[in-house]
Parts: sequence; C-alpha cells; structure tokens
Amino acid sequence: MRKKVIAGNWKMNNDLSESQNLISKLISGLSNEKVNCDVIVCPPFTSLSEANSLLKKSIIKLGAQNMYFEESGAFTGEISASMLKNTGCEYVILGHSERRTIFGETDQVINKKIKKALQSNLLPIFCVGESLQERESEVTNDIIKRQITEGLKNISSAEMQKIIIAYEPVWAIGTGKTASPQQAEDVHAFIRGLVKSLYSNEIAEGLVIQYGGSVKPDNAKELLSQKDIDGALVGGACLKSESFIEIIKAA
Ligand code: PEP
Repeated sequence: MRKKVIAGNWKMNNDLSESQNLISKLISGLSNEKVNCDVIVCPPFTSLSEANSLLKKSIIKLGAQNMYFEESGAFTGEISASMLKNTGCEYVILGHSERRTIFGETDQVINKKIKKALQSNLLPIFCVGESLQERESEVTNDIIKRQITEGLKNISSAEMQKIIIAYEPVWAIGTGKTASPQQAEDVHAFIRGLVKSLYSNEIAEGLVIQYGGSVKPDNAKELLSQKDIDGALVGGACLKSESFIEIIKAA
C-alpha cells in the first residue's frame, strides 16, 4: 500500500507574517486529527527558515517550489539545492507548469535540476502535464511520455525510488476545471506503466503519483480514491487552512 502524500504549493503568496499565521493554523487544525498521509507545505523562499522552525514538532514536512542545478556562483536570482537543505527543506517541486511556460524551463533543465536535488538529498516532486491544446489534439500520452523520459534521463533505480511524480494537466491548474477522476486515473495508470517499462514493476508500484489541478475539499475524496492517485499537489486550496485540512482529511 502506498501512503498518500498531500503537498501544498503556496506559489508567490504569503509574506513572513502571513506564512507564520497559516502554518500556526495548520498545526493547530491538525493537532486533533488522525492524519494517515504525509503532508508537505511549500512556502516561498523567504518563509522557509521560519516555517522550518515552526514545523519542528509537527508532522508537516517542508518543501521549496524551485531551485537551480548549479552548486553556487554567478547565477543572479537563483537558489541552490544546498541552500534549500540549509533552511530545513526535505522536498522541492521541479518542473511545475508555471516554471515551464512562464520561465521557459525545458525537459533538459528539469532533468539537471532533478539530478542535483537528488545529489543534495532533496526529494523531488516532479511535475508533468499536458496543455489544453495537447489534450484536444489527443497527444496527452505522448507529451507525458516525453516529459517523463527526458526528465528522468540517467536517473538510477535507487534515485527513482526517492521521486514523487505530480500529474498536473495545465488546463486544470488554477482554472477551477478539474480532470474527472477517470481522466486523471487514465493518465496516472499510463505514468505507472511507463515507469514500469523504464525501471521495474517494483519501482512503479512503489511510486507516489500525485494529481494536481484545482483540487478542492469537494472533489478530493473522489480523486484520491482512484487506484493510481496517491495524493494531491494543491495550489489555491492550500492557502486557506480549512480547505487544506479538509483535503488532508479526505486522504
Ligand atoms: C498547482 O499549482 O500545482 C496547482 C495544482 O494549483 P491549483 O490547485 O490552484 O489548480
């Protein structure tokens, strides 16, 4: 049985005091709940250290939203894997569709980032997903196959066991449109089959595949009850403690 993983991607939201506030509410809101899944929050860089201090005695784990693949040097505006480790991060989201579309990240760049994260003992949450046009042109599986094959190039079996994949159809992110449970399950099953062919049955069966794209308290349960959906990467609904906690409870 795979343990479900619910991660909150705060994106470019919450300054320091807002972050403190949200984390305090999450800690107190979860204190009386029996939580059966892993929970991760991914605040902006400026809140990571403070979040780490606040989360010390909590079950909630810490992740970042991005990093660069070089160790250090003249890369103005970038942040390294070891800097993230230093703030207490265990996870890092890589290849989010906003990084791909707004900041031009390619599969090759994402592959370098995944390798660097693993070398630095950060666990990647590797995002893949098709655009609306790609879905309508019925090339979803081709796109996912390319993103996964390129993104995981030269990643060993041992490393693969440390990776979470998040399937996030771009047309469902922040739009209020959710993939139907069946649409999501179909792609998740495809991803698991692909990982089996690239690695092994054991690795594919152990792989956590999250769904992301307008996950809300009212659709979480049905999505999370699909055979190959092992968690959620949540954007908008993780910014309110009440809705994030409802999604955690659904898992
Ligand atoms: C995301 O950004 O990863 C995401 C899934 O956002 P939302 O839940 O708002 O669609």
